[in-house]
Amino acid sequence: MSTFQAPKGTYDLLPPDSATYLAVREAIAAPLRNSGYGYVETPGFENVELFARGVGESTDIVTKEMYAFETKGGDKLALRPEGTASVLRAALEGNLHKAGNLPVKLWYSGSYYRYERPQKGRYRHFSQVGAEAIGAEDPALDAELIILADQAYRSLGLKEFRILLNSLGDKECRPVYRAALQEFLRGLDLDEETRRRIDINPLRVLDDKRADVQKQLVGAPMLADYLCDACKAYHEQVRELLTAAGVGYEDDPKLVRGLDYYTRTTFEFVHDGLGSQSAVGGGGRYDGLSEMIGGPALPSVGWALGVDRTVLALEAEGITLDLPAATTVFAVPLGEEARRVLFAKVTELRRAGVAADFSYGGKGLKGAMKNANRSGARFTVVAGERDLAEGVVQLKDMESGEQEAVAVDEVVAVVKSKLV
Ligand code: AMP
Repeated sequence: MSTFQAPKGTYDLLPPDSATYLAVREAIAAPLRNSGYGYVETPGFENVELFARGVGESTDIVTKEMYAFETKGGDKLALRPEGTASVLRAALEGNLHKAGNLPVKLWYSGSYYRYERPQKGRYRHFSQVGAEAIGAEDPALDAELIILADQAYRSLGLKEFRILLNSLGDKECRPVYRAALQEFLRGLDLDEETRRRIDINPLRVLDDKRADVQKQLVGAPMLADYLCDACKAYHEQVRELLTAAGVGYEDDPKLVRGLDYYTRTTFEFVHDGLGSQSAVGGGGRYDGLSEMIGGPALPSVGWALGVDRTVLALEAEGITLDLPAATTVFAVPLGEEARRVLFAKVTELRRAGVAADFSYGGKGLKGAMKNANRSGARFTVVAGERDLAEGVVQLKDMESGEQEAVAVDEVVAVVKSKLV
């Protein structure tokens, strides 16, 4: 071990487990790529104001969890705690919304940072794959995103997840509800911090996980009863489209989520095998966010799925992804001449698209075969002086144990023919 360790609340992705993370990212991205979403990458840090305004100054993410710092040049920046504000900022800056083809559909994948109390499933550095559909108010778009996330989870073999769905109303009906909720909450016996929250962000109080708070919330006014006709009709369409697509969901009138910018449709994907950090992903509509960060009105919807927690969900369901071995052919040279010949063969195999590796460091047969086994290679190619004198190498099928002499010139062709 070195003198240093990964910082608190972080961990390294190392082989072989890291292959599962890559496969999860790919599985989430595949349905998006297949549905008109283009890839976007933004910097790991942004002007701190973008998050303060975009994510919301009353959220824990901004007030407590942000890695904010001042640069030597005096810029106030923050490591990104989430993706939506940055992606919208980038779309506006790149004028993607002006090209005349709204919605702008984007997907992203990357690292996010929150100064949280670390525990299983909650880290200070984590990884998300996300999608945003910017500039259209259409319930089919909300449904599309939920369906694509469902497809991604199912493609990984996950079954024990549930989709929670709610509508948070819009700028017409939410203020009326907000006032009614504030009045109700002010009559409860709550601690000072929660009381403060009543003024700034009362909906978040509904999300409080503490049992003594939840007990008092029985009988609280519900947003569903305050939705205006337009929001009700919109939500009904989202629900119908999901049902028609065969995607099951649960109405959760208390689902508010932790970010300020959501309007109308909100949803969360929860996995029942994960304990307290059960949200594997979530998202919703954010019709006012663009204006909040100085852009034009661009009603939008998006989600972010957590890669770390999706991997934990796979573990919880006992799912091992069927990943191809990293190496197909492992070459074991015995002697100097064989090193030269087999190294050239490995290069040739790689150029022909066959994953190949080589026994480096001049190991003997026993040590080299150990490496070959560990690599998971389907074939080994072993050659010694005697083989080469006959112009052959020994090709061994590691599954069947069968071995055959193959002419040096034909190694690539023979291996390829066995792989189809
Ligand atoms: P949020 O932006 O909080 O809705 O996060 C979306 C998803 O990212 C969550 O459902 C989690 O899967 C994941 N996530 C958020 N915060 C963390 C964290 N601190 N550690 C690991 N995953 C996280």
